[in-house]
Amino acid sequence: MDLTKDFGISREIYELFKECEEQVKPAFKKIEEIAEKNQWKVMKAFADNRVSESHFAPTYGYGYDDLGRDTLDKVYADIFDCEDALVRHQLISGTHTLSTVLFGILRPGDILFSVTGRPYDTLEEVIGIAGEDGNGSLKDFGVEYIEAALLPTGEPDYSEIEKILKEKKVKLVTIQRSKGYGTRPTYSAEKIGEIVSFVKNISPDTICMVDNCYGEFVDEKEPTSYGADIICGSLIKNPGGGIAPTGGYIAGKADLIEKCAYRLTSVGIGKEAGASLGFNKSAYQGLFIAPHVVSCAVKSAVLAACVFEKLGFETEPKWNEERHDIIEAIKLGTPENLCAFCAGVQKGAPVDSFVTPEPWAMPGYQDEVIMAAGAFNQGSSIELSADGPLREPYIGYLQGGITYESAKLGLMVAAQNIVDLRG
Ligand SMILES: *Cc1c(COP(=O)(O)O)cnc(C)c1O
Repeated sequence: MDLTKDFGISREIYELFKECEEQVKPAFKKIEEIAEKNQWKVMKAFADNRVSESHFAPTYGYGYDDLGRDTLDKVYADIFDCEDALVRHQLISGTHTLSTVLFGILRPGDILFSVTGRPYDTLEEVIGIAGEDGNGSLKDFGVEYIEAALLPTGEPDYSEIEKILKEKKVKLVTIQRSKGYGTRPTYSAEKIGEIVSFVKNISPDTICMVDNCYGEFVDEKEPTSYGADIICGSLIKNPGGGIAPTGGYIAGKADLIEKCAYRLTSVGIGKEAGASLGFNKSAYQGLFIAPHVVSCAVKSAVLAACVFEKLGFETEPKWNEERHDIIEAIKLGTPENLCAFCAGVQKGAPVDSFVTPEPWAMPGYQDEVIMAAGAFNQGSSIELSADGPLREPYIGYLQGGITYESAKLGLMVAAQNIVDLRG
């Protein structure tokens, strides 16, 4: 094995990574402690629900009495400390899952209130604040949308939130845990609990929903443990552990889960049907391994922060700051740097390592986006991936890494690419 010959990595970059790994050891130790607790929590839920081989059998057709599917819902509910869950391969992405929750719960005349600023890009068309009228957005169905911009510090604007909750009857408040394509800090599950308490103190009947994408298993508990009514996310992110081939989950209060199930399948049918095909085994296996995989991804993010800080870039979070999702944002400053960074990450992938990513107009996104992804599951971002919209200040968002060792290699190539650009 010759890193220089095989991957073009110079002695300097190799040494830089070694130095950084030494420096980040205390951060790694904390990450391992959280992974351990989450792993045991997952194993207790598997044991309590008597997960066995029979749960992996596929069902077809209507999929009535799918024991594996129904038990998987219970396992998720236990892990996320709530009444019920809906874990389905028929939820095709994070956006679809979020959309299912919003359309499942909201009715004409209801008010949807985002208390953590502008939501994730792909939700804009779902809500109806982007895209054409008449597409079937929430707005088309008479759901009013209000947003409280974040303060310049990245904190929720509590006085504005209070004012709106007192003025209007808000049906559902949405809280986004991860920064997404933003620059604010990601909120901890505990902090989300504080936001939920604040909302409930003023307006006890308002439902609090959390977009939990990228947050699962990074903290010791999830927002549902701190009072959130309903949370959801994608299975090709954290909780699928890189094994689940597709899917989404929704977890929370049983009455709300039923409404979401009515929206996903059909009113009256809900959770009772939907063949699992061969999905269950990979969903269980992915969930089992997820706490460990998430810890690898978080370690990779810490290492990336340390390295790119030393190379002179601003990062969010910094290597030694607390983390509540798997994302590392690196302010790369120029489109060339962003593209070189993504090209490097791509080279460290197990699949499609020979291709060079190019910016393109992705459905659901307002700016062109560049994406490095050499994943076993297309678009999976618990697998090492990097992306960013082609807009100032050209932030590269790095996430994932099924194994720490493979992510480290991708990061070394990315760092080398950037250094080479400087000439
Ligand atoms: C990824 C993500 C989504 C959307 O998920 P997709 O699977 O890409 O549709 C929504 N919100 C947040 C915070 C995300 O990270």
